[in-house]
Amino acid sequence: ETEDFDAVIVGTGGAGLSAAIAAYDQGLTNIVILEKMAVTGGNTNYSSSGMNASETKFQKEQGIEDSNALFAQETLDGGHNTGDEELVTFMCDNSAGAIDWLDSLGIKLDNITLTGGMSVTRCHRPTDGSAVGLTLVPGLVAAAEERGIPLRMNCEAKELVVNDGAVEGIKVEEKGKPKTLNARAVILATGGLGANQEMVTKYRPDLAGYVTTNQPGATGDGYLMAEAVGAELVQMDQIQIHPTVEQETSTLVAEGVRGGGAILVNAEGNRFFDEMSTRDKVSAAEQEQPGGFAWCVFDQQVYDNNKAIAKYDKAGIVVTGDDIADLASQIEVDPAALQATVDAYNAITTDGATDEFGRTEGCIAFAPGAMYAIKVAPGIHHAMGGIRINASNQVLDADGNPIPGLYAAGEVTGGIHGNNRIGGNAVCDIEVFGKNVGEVVAAALA
Ligand code: ADP
Repeated sequence: ETEDFDAVIVGTGGAGLSAAIAAYDQGLTNIVILEKMAVTGGNTNYSSSGMNASETKFQKEQGIEDSNALFAQETLDGGHNTGDEELVTFMCDNSAGAIDWLDSLGIKLDNITLTGGMSVTRCHRPTDGSAVGLTLVPGLVAAAEERGIPLRMNCEAKELVVNDGAVEGIKVEEKGKPKTLNARAVILATGGLGANQEMVTKYRPDLAGYVTTNQPGATGDGYLMAEAVGAELVQMDQIQIHPTVEQETSTLVAEGVRGGGAILVNAEGNRFFDEMSTRDKVSAAEQEQPGGFAWCVFDQQVYDNNKAIAKYDKAGIVVTGDDIADLASQIEVDPAALQATVDAYNAITTDGATDEFGRTEGCIAFAPGAMYAIKVAPGIHHAMGGIRINASNQVLDADGNPIPGLYAAGEVTGGIHGNNRIGGNAVCDIEVFGKNVGEVVAAALA
């Protein structure tokens, strides 16, 4: 069986949905979005921090001074200058436009916070401060449905169809049935590879046995399909591990918990690092602690200020103590050591003492009373490497030439984050480049 489309978009995460909506609004209406799973949203559903963006109207309204150049600089610095400057600049320059575009779709991200590695408050979250993915995905799905764009669930893309070097369609298996979808353009928005142990260890043997925060469909299909038609894959060994993953449930404890004041202590009850440093450094420091884990410790204020924590509590991963001593005994840490750690931390925030680990952000003294802890260790989080693209989202071959008819956006692409992604930059990446690829393809096929 065959069907004909102008464009086929593979993946219903933030990138794929945005691509489809943007293409449709530019007049490209004979399109379809494919999703191999039974649920929409991919890893975007789990996106907890927010969307970094600079020079936005919401920042201006709130008196926050920022610049696209500074955002780009801090993104490149965060990735230790291994990111692609052209793509990073494009992303940052177009971030405010993407915030406005989402707002026009009814997705308002005006609650602005800080993430590790950024010096300016530019992480845009939903108004009520809740996890961004849970607003973004339903909002984009509703916008796609409003436009009548078909979403094909349980439809797995298997192989690109190429003719004379140009991509002309895609072979799929829909509810177990093989089909060929002819298309003038295919957009890969298939996300990462974190749930594919074999692929993870192919590129990073040292990550064998790590838990993953990824959804089960994040199996790297897009890399394989693109590679098979000559696409270049870049920085594939750059797989980000996240420092605060609860290991029994693979629950990611959002960075905002630390940003809101939480500390990390080791099995001996001592802090060991600047909790607000970049993910690679915090993960590495954690692995050097006894047992290779940490307790994320916080008070009632932190609990109440972050909506995600009640969810963690419901999932059974939060240990609750009446006070510091009670918490210490429950997590089997020396109560005197934990008390001394908290006293020293409170001194940074209340007495103006300098933190011995250099933490300067999100230092908020713990109040007396209930104390909480979540046991965390690093987990596989994000594929930073991937398909090489240019700023028009064209997929490039090893010589840097575009493969006609093939485009990619989102986590499946590589080169933006370099060897360390800043929290809040994945959503910026998928939104800026998702919207962009839709517009580019619509213009190319017009
Ligand atoms: P991004 O953040 O880049 O948008 P996500 O992980 O949020 O990435 O979304 C990618 C989506 O693509 C997921 O829902 C995933 O299940 C889907 N997907 C991955 N591989 C395929 C495939 N071969 N066919 C169809 N859908 C796929």
